[in-house]
Amino acid sequence: MDPISTLFLDTDQPASRIVRAMAAIGSATASQLVQATGLARSTVSTLLTELRETGVVIELDSRSTGFGRPSQLLSLNPARGRCAGVLLGLGEIRISVCDLTHSVLSDVWLPINLDYSPEEAARAVRKSLEQQCDTLGIRISDLLGVGLAISAPLSFEGKVLNGDVLPTWNGVDIASVFAAELDCPIHAENESHCGALAEMTWGAAMGEKNFILFKFDLGVGGAIVLDGAVHRGTFGNAAEFGHLVLDPRGELCRCGSRGCLTLSVGAFHLLRKAEEFTGHPVSIDEFIEHARAGHIGYRRLVEDAADIAGWGMGLTATILNPPLFVIAGKLAMVGDFFVERLQKSFERHTLPQMEVQGKGRPRFVVGKFLGNDDTVMGAVALVLHQHGKVTASHEGG
Ligand SMILES: [Zn+2]
Repeated sequence: MDPISTLFLDTDQPASRIVRAMAAIGSATASQLVQATGLARSTVSTLLTELRETGVVIELDSRSTGFGRPSQLLSLNPARGRCAGVLLGLGEIRISVCDLTHSVLSDVWLPINLDYSPEEAARAVRKSLEQQCDTLGIRISDLLGVGLAISAPLSFEGKVLNGDVLPTWNGVDIASVFAAELDCPIHAENESHCGALAEMTWGAAMGEKNFILFKFDLGVGGAIVLDGAVHRGTFGNAAEFGHLVLDPRGELCRCGSRGCLTLSVGAFHLLRKAEEFTGHPVSIDEFIEHARAGHIGYRRLVEDAADIAGWGMGLTATILNPPLFVIAGKLAMVGDFFVERLQKSFERHTLPQMEVQGKGRPRFVVGKFLGNDDTVMGAVALVLHQHGKVTASHEGG
């Protein structure tokens, strides 16, 4: 096994802590690594010398930081480890191979029939990954791991729970299905949780230990991050904000409840409404373009959705009192008026906070990774953090 893979897997060794911290942060100075790992300065210094000698860590040109800082900037050697992120989406699968400095080396979108089975998905991913790895001159078994982002919550045993987008996957042990095809460690996680990992690692929530992410896309998902970790709840389906019941006598939701938030805010609902007034089907990208351009009907639909979404966000703040909300998903691309409207509605629907030196209100930020980037990058982050509780290995591996 490649030594760097061992360092990722051996979670208790100080050298592993340094490698994982560098994988999460990207480039870092020795002082930043002392802070990130909690190890003694002398230990970090000794281990960095060893890691440089074995080629696991490389020195970056410190002039490239542009600020004349005397500290040497270090990075994992990108040639020494690669991993893949896979988004199992609606009618398409996206597969990205990245190196340890988070650079995307190859990125493929595969169209697939809407009701694809987990086994079909695993075979399609293997085929594509084989080709991608071949182009990069490596094998699938050289990958540090493959992270799978799924549009459904997962139990701690790795079983798909109540799949909104992929209902036929209920109860499937997804990592094991993929482990039968792919000769490397597999990690699986709910796509919104992957999105939170991507934002924590490289995006709008870097350095934030506590926040709530709301993802507004075809459906509505979310993540709760507490003390730097995604909170999954007792059975793995925490933060399913799309199914907050806002109207007990409302429309029936596919989850079995009535009046769920997603029925008024999910883009699938907005697209249906748009079709009613345009008389023809509208894609989510067209919808966003029209709303951005200020077309009155589209804009009104977004404002109505923001009013209801802010209500749901207010409920979560009354319960958890977070310092930060990250707004993710394609709907966040429609423009500032969406977030402004969300915030107004939020204020109306949460417990008024005492202003303590201007700190009473949570901050609202738009995610860095909108569209599908958050989930696929989150799946990569999943491998790099070894965050996934749901792990499987190839039987013959
Ligand atoms: Zn529901």
